[in-house]
Amino acid sequence: MSKVRLPGLVNVHSHTFQRAIRGRTEHRTAAQDDFWTWREAMYHAAQRLSPGDIYDVARMAFLEMALSGITHVGEFHYLHHQPNGEPYDDPNLLARQIIGAAESVGIRLTLLMCAYARAGYNKPANPGQARFLTATPELFLQRFEELGAAIAREETPVRLALAPHSIRALPFEYIRELVRYGAAHKLPVHMHLSEQPGELDQCRAEHGTTPVALLAQHDLLSDTFTAVHATHISDEEVQALAAAGATVCACPTTERNLGDGIAPADRLVAAGVPICVGTDSQIQIDLLEDARELEYHLRLQRLRRVVLADDLAQPLLDIATVNGSKSLGGAANDDDHIIIDLHDPSIAGAPDELGAVFSLERTAIRDVFVGGKQIIHDGRHLLQEEIVGRFVAVQERLWR
Ligand SMILES: [Zn+2]
Repeated sequence: MSKVRLPGLVNVHSHTFQRAIRGRTEHRTAAQDDFWTWREAMYHAAQRLSPGDIYDVARMAFLEMALSGITHVGEFHYLHHQPNGEPYDDPNLLARQIIGAAESVGIRLTLLMCAYARAGYNKPANPGQARFLTATPELFLQRFEELGAAIAREETPVRLALAPHSIRALPFEYIRELVRYGAAHKLPVHMHLSEQPGELDQCRAEHGTTPVALLAQHDLLSDTFTAVHATHISDEEVQALAAAGATVCACPTTERNLGDGIAPADRLVAAGVPICVGTDSQIQIDLLEDARELEYHLRLQRLRRVVLADDLAQPLLDIATVNGSKSLGGAANDDDHIIIDLHDPSIAGAPDELGAVFSLERTAIRDVFVGGKQIIHDGRHLLQEEIVGRFVAVQERLWR
């Protein structure tokens, strides 16, 4: 038998709608393109997606994730309102599109409801962000609780968690209120932190310190907290994350695409901070590649090999599986697993399934099970043609 079982992969950080801009931003738009110029292009697409489009694009992203062996995704959801910023009649309409898309594909979903309130400290409002904004933590938590109650009534398996977007996108009191609510209700709390040097400068100007240090000072880090990116952090900040038992979610494929910087995986591992990974902008959906990049980017930087551990296979697999489950607030689920074919050309001759971690391609992933239910059958999803067809139609309208 050449078929062996691996645990399902856990994608901790996703923005499904960004699947629509894949490959559409790879040209120069300014004298120097960077994260901030990319972000304007991303906002431009985000402005034009209807609720139906958001459902179709999310289904496409979730389908591709399932085909690549991802069984559980954390969707960091910040597209809440109409393009003019007005809420829909149901303020959670777009969250429901995401939930419906996950149900349609059969992938396990933790919906990280994201709060966003401003363009930045002392920055004028950016019309590109109108769909993201919720003015107060009270209003945000009211809508969050309404969605939670509806989900409980419908007995949907989706879980909710909290995502204050970032230091720049929220006043500090707003962040504190959400983090405290998360702690009181034992919910995972995820936050973008220190992805970009520019973000550190903004945080210093407002708070006199850097993002992770600010949260540590106010005792807001904990073992249910996940810092997304944490690319530009000091040794003291690494220690603060370790002391709190917090997790870091790196997104190396996106970070290299955006020119963000190299995740300090060696310093995090040395301090005992668990690292997990996310597909973030969806520029490429391959979670084991994300895990490998954590190691390989450090090799390029240090001009040496085998940086993160003496033996890399199990630690890299853990990054793409159990560490992600911890971040999303659950134990790894034995009923979430994938069947790979050791005779696939990408891994033929590997000593065992662990040896496959370094080169496994999507073609090797034959069957995928979520909660014991099979969602991928011999490399295909039953709704694949319909999902891809509808996504292509959205793209044709969007980019006409
Ligand atoms: Zn993100």
